Amino acid sequence: MRSAFKTRWYLFVGLALLAAIAGFGYYWLQDPDLVWTAINVNTGQQQGDAHLLKINHSVHILIDTGHPDCADSLLQFLKEQGVSRLNAVIITHSHRDHYGGLMALLNNQITIDSVYFNPAPPYLVKKETPWGCSQEEIETILYALVDRDIPVIPMTSNTQWVFDNGTSLKVLYIYDGLRTPIGPTDINDTSAIMMLTHQKIRILFAGDLNQPLGRYITQRRDITSIKADILKVPHHGAEVLADNAFFEAVQPQAMVVPASKSLWLSERCQRLRNLAAQYPTRVNGLDGHIVIKSDGYSFRMETQWHGNRPPEHQPPGPAPCGSSQIMRLAGAGPRPVWTGMNLHLVIPIRQSNDGTLPTVFAGVCPYPGSDGGNDVFSSMPLDLRLSRLGHRCMLAAHWISGSGQNAIRWVLR
Ligand SMILES: [Zn+2]
Repeated sequence: MRSAFKTRWYLFVGLALLAAIAGFGYYWLQDPDLVWTAINVNTGQQQGDAHLLKINHSVHILIDTGHPDCADSLLQFLKEQGVSRLNAVIITHSHRDHYGGLMALLNNQITIDSVYFNPAPPYLVKKETPWGCSQEEIETILYALVDRDIPVIPMTSNTQWVFDNGTSLKVLYIYDGLRTPIGPTDINDTSAIMMLTHQKIRILFAGDLNQPLGRYITQRRDITSIKADILKVPHHGAEVLADNAFFEAVQPQAMVVPASKSLWLSERCQRLRNLAAQYPTRVNGLDGHIVIKSDGYSFRMETQWHGNRPPEHQPPGPAPCGSSQIMRLAGAGPRPVWTGMNLHLVIPIRQSNDGTLPTVFAGVCPYPGSDGGNDVFSSMPLDLRLSRLGHRCMLAAHWISGSGQNAIRWVLR
């Protein structure tokens, strides 16, 4: 009798556990109330910001539209997601890598309910023409919006979008670059700095915040207002982005960097690469689209390219040959010097369908030398070989440099 009771009890506990596991699995299989995708609108040397927020499975908000050169990536992503209508497009500031994809949206039958945009004063635009923006481009966009009866709504530090289920997006700071409390600034410091709140989860969208306004925001007494679980890193991670003190004030659990691979690996991102040792970081030029899903109490990040890559600061562990994984081997083992540059290997590994050896499809990226040049991907003679050692794989890289023959080997479990 006692034993039968025990069996029933175990059965009950087992079933309850199964139900809990199934419920949890079902929950995570569903898209939660908030999904943010940091769209990979980077090509080659060009970087840009474009972030799609999907709220309560129905509302779509696009923060920035990327550079015009990358508009195809933006359109392709929206098409894949089945998004043909945007409830709002927010342009954080008047730079081409943020407003540049807007015309493509208008010309490709994407319905836009309203655009939130504070065009920078022409005086500032003129100073940053042609490299950052142009008055002509900005006016073309504004005329096109007027032609289509799409309202262009200016933002203030009181602008807030409130949704169901405890979700809101609030502009914390926005200045015009002329009447900023710290005096005149560049266009980056006119960025709308916004906090997205989903119940307990806070995400800070820092536009292209630079050092001068970054210092002001950090030093303000209400410093806790910028504390967030996730930081959309300002200015694509490149100097002269906000000081380290800003990052300390935000205290993010994770950071998302909208940057091309070449920018991320260049000297301009050196300080942020150092910070990435402290805060787990994803870069969409490396990881592909970065998807953040929040249930209001926790979040998880997924990346388009099998982003199980360990955070930058973790020593790279052995990667299973058979799993889909991106391995970052930076800092692993010896750091051979190649013509004055540290060698940096980024090696995505993917299992082939027939179960044979994984395919290696990326190579070697030397960090830039002291010249700080951008051509970090200048080709170098490289021979990558993969062989099987029992249950393990060995990856060997050979290359010729000024100092002669070089080789590195990694054994992958
Ligand atoms: Zn930018």
